[in-house]
Amino acid sequence: MLYESTRGQVRPHSFSEAVEAGLAADGGLFVPQTWPDLSALLPTWEGLSYPQLAAQFLSRFAPEIELEEWQQLTAQAYSRFAAAEVAPLVKLDERTLVLELWHGPTLAFKDFALQLLGLLYKRQVAQQGRRLAVLGATSGDTGSAAIAGCMGQPGIDIFILYPQGRVSPLQERQMACTGAANVHALAVPGFFDDAQRVVKDCFGDEGFVREVNLSAVNSINIARVLAQCVYYLWAWLRLPASQRSTAEFVVPTGNFGNVLAGWWCQRMGMACRGFRVATNHNDILHRFFSTGEYRQGELRSSHAPSMDIAAASNFERFLFEWQGRDAAKVRGLMARMKAGEVLSWPQPQTSIRSSRMDDAQIVQSIAEVWRRWGYVADPHTACAFTDMAPEGVSVILSTASAAKFPEVVAQALGREVTHPTLEALKGLPLRSQPLAAEPAAVKAFVRAHLGA
Ligand SMILES: *Cc1c(COP(=O)(O)O)cnc(C)c1O
Repeated sequence: MLYESTRGQVRPHSFSEAVEAGLAADGGLFVPQTWPDLSALLPTWEGLSYPQLAAQFLSRFAPEIELEEWQQLTAQAYSRFAAAEVAPLVKLDERTLVLELWHGPTLAFKDFALQLLGLLYKRQVAQQGRRLAVLGATSGDTGSAAIAGCMGQPGIDIFILYPQGRVSPLQERQMACTGAANVHALAVPGFFDDAQRVVKDCFGDEGFVREVNLSAVNSINIARVLAQCVYYLWAWLRLPASQRSTAEFVVPTGNFGNVLAGWWCQRMGMACRGFRVATNHNDILHRFFSTGEYRQGELRSSHAPSMDIAAASNFERFLFEWQGRDAAKVRGLMARMKAGEVLSWPQPQTSIRSSRMDDAQIVQSIAEVWRRWGYVADPHTACAFTDMAPEGVSVILSTASAAKFPEVVAQALGREVTHPTLEALKGLPLRSQPLAAEPAAVKAFVRAHLGA
């Protein structure tokens, strides 16, 4: 299996090369060159544990890593999850199920990919015999998950920029209270976009990238999407066979990474009814799927902050597939978008539909889900509970523990929800480094703290 760019102007890459590169050199995103047909194989995977299923699936996408090594990697990656099933499928009623994706170390679904990515980095260090510096910017959940995946790993230093005062106090504690010498949480002034720009500038300096062996952690790495495919297959296999084709997956999504993985599984033979993209008021994806217009709006912070995006970075992978894998066409569309043009089509006919919730609706939804089922949903998950399919089963992907967003949940339920992992953080010393939002400052900091 090899990987090509959505913009078609790089040579095919192996899995390891694509993981290491992150973004393709032509500015595109890596996608598998072909889709394996898993339809006959899937039923034979029914009895596998989550790590075994992950190993079977991922070994098809990265044959350069032997199945046996994949089994070790996935067993280790998911051993830190608190739930025995890794991703429990909870039944609210006969037609409504919740797939809980927050039993990993940082209590949000990004652990599924980043626990594994941390181990892939470690493997890379062993193979290259060189230290690796991992650099990324975060609005909260990605940074803490990346840190949890890399902390204490020999040969790796991780540097995460976050906008000072604009991540939740708990998210900041998850990044800055690890006590691990190889973890550096860097607080920069401004917004997430400012932090992101500084990181991009650092990657634009090829000499620096080579000097410190710099690797990016962001939402577009191919390993992330492939690791996320596994929980769709897992949930689908837990359904009675007669219900599988009726299932609609409801997916809180921002950058389109979460739902893309499921849509790819459908292309590989996971027969289901389809998907619903659940957005907050930053609703570019909802507007696209309901009208065909892809128009960047102004970013407004919301009660579901991990879905606060103006444009969805993984959408390009959807476009590529939807436009018949025509890289020249994608290049043209991305250039027009970059020039500020609004893209529009007739309403898309796909297996994906969409919904949206504003902040007031999110609070109501949390209260309603509690009243109806006695279940506590976090603000991202709450966005899913609307516009349910009239028939078949709905599988709602629950992306974070409600305890990560205590203020909004308290507003809805009139009480605090807590989680022991987060409570334990409150007593630990916070070690965060304030830094100017300047590439020179970041590069100097990285150089000074390699192997510290
Ligand atoms: C990141 C995140 C999302 C959105 O995921 P995408 O990959 O952007 O689709 C949803 N919920 C939570 C809690 C998240 O951390």
